[in-house]
Amino acid sequence: MSFSSLGLHQQLVTTITDLGYSEPTPIQSAAVPEILKGHDIMARAQTGTGKTAAFALPLIHNIQESYKIQTPSSSDESSPKHLQTLVLTPTRELAQQVFNSFEKYGKKTAIKNAIAYGGVSINPQLEALKNGIDILVATPGRLLDLIFREAINLSQIKQIVFDEADRMLDMGFITDINRILKVIPDDRQTLLFSATFDDAIFKLSKKLLTTPKLIEIDEKNTAASQVEQMVYAVDEDRKRELTSYLIGSKNWHQVLIFTRTKQGADALAKEMCKDGIKAQTIHGDKSQGAREKALADFKDKKVRALVATDVAARGLDIDQLKYVINYELPYIAEDYIHRIGRTGRAGNKGLAISLLSVGEEYLLEEVEAVLDARLPQQWLPGYEPDLTKQAPTSRKNSRTAQKNRRKNRAYGKKKPK
Ligand code: AMP
Repeated sequence: MSFSSLGLHQQLVTTITDLGYSEPTPIQSAAVPEILKGHDIMARAQTGTGKTAAFALPLIHNIQESYKIQTPSSSDESSPKHLQTLVLTPTRELAQQVFNSFEKYGKKTAIKNAIAYGGVSINPQLEALKNGIDILVATPGRLLDLIFREAINLSQIKQIVFDEADRMLDMGFITDINRILKVIPDDRQTLLFSATFDDAIFKLSKKLLTTPKLIEIDEKNTAASQVEQMVYAVDEDRKRELTSYLIGSKNWHQVLIFTRTKQGADALAKEMCKDGIKAQTIHGDKSQGAREKALADFKDKKVRALVATDVAARGLDIDQLKYVINYELPYIAEDYIHRIGRTGRAGNKGLAISLLSVGEEYLLEEVEAVLDARLPQQWLPGYEPDLTKQAPTSRKNSRTAQKNRRKNRAYGKKKPK
């Protein structure tokens, strides 16, 4: 299938061809025609599958069409701008990435995009809204702030996207979403994207969507299948040494490392720097400026390792990232899928290595249940675990662990085939 057969304006097809996209990804082939027809959609697609273009391209197309209807004799340049498209994302990093995509795909059009997220001054965002915009990409909290200040008019919204809706629910945004829905017209097109489908997402979809088209992309076609996954069993107190050894001995120049906590991220990056591997961190305790700088340095390969927590890393798009290390497996098994989805993007190959210490086996089992696949453990010569060590029972039986085990077991059973 080609991009021109999807029904998009030739101008958009030229832009994406210039970007080097030779053919649509499966989510794009499935979603673009449905969105162009005006349907609501509920799509299951992980990041790295091209899902941003899957909604951004038809939304830009629709806005251009709406200008033609309003002012048939004039170009869209002369049309007054009013906000008609809203994209909600769970994190500021994802908001930035989605905004960049709209700028990139719409660069040959006169469409104006704006972005709004918390953690930074609201003033430049207010300024950007003043002259009129077509598309706003926002996180829910900052959007509500703009609504309360009456800095934004949502009464003419025609299209709304919930990107990474599962993450929005995980992060507790449901109350914010409900508030936002109250000020948005019911007569609109709604697109919901989620990496996972579970009961909570279906419940949300009933509230948001009207007779949606359900789109589920075959897992075999998604980025995750391009990622080789390995698990090294290793003692907890040798994980740092092993991480530095892998990066150094294999001469990896860009490695994203995941820890469960902000403190763990800071401590690891500090120790790795002592090992001679330049590392920075990205997590919620850092200012937006510091997060952006760490990411830019990592993308420019000024630092070799970026140590991240799950929330901060959500939505990061690092072109051609090859290596992800799970220094610790996540408590929420679905986060594993999001983590490894940072690599293997847009058809590239990737490698995800998980370090597993005694006491973490139950987390691996939960990941395997979500993946519906076994991830065999290996030993790296010189880093074999000390088998005399016992699992710390306190963690195994912690209330959080039990809750997550129950949650993931339930998820595993309901996982769509
Ligand atoms: P996403 O899943 O939206 O985060 O996109 C992942 C990456 O794939 C981004 O770097 C996009 O620029 C790239 N991409 C999106 N669509 C295509 C395509 N049809 N061909 C090649 N690359 C693409």
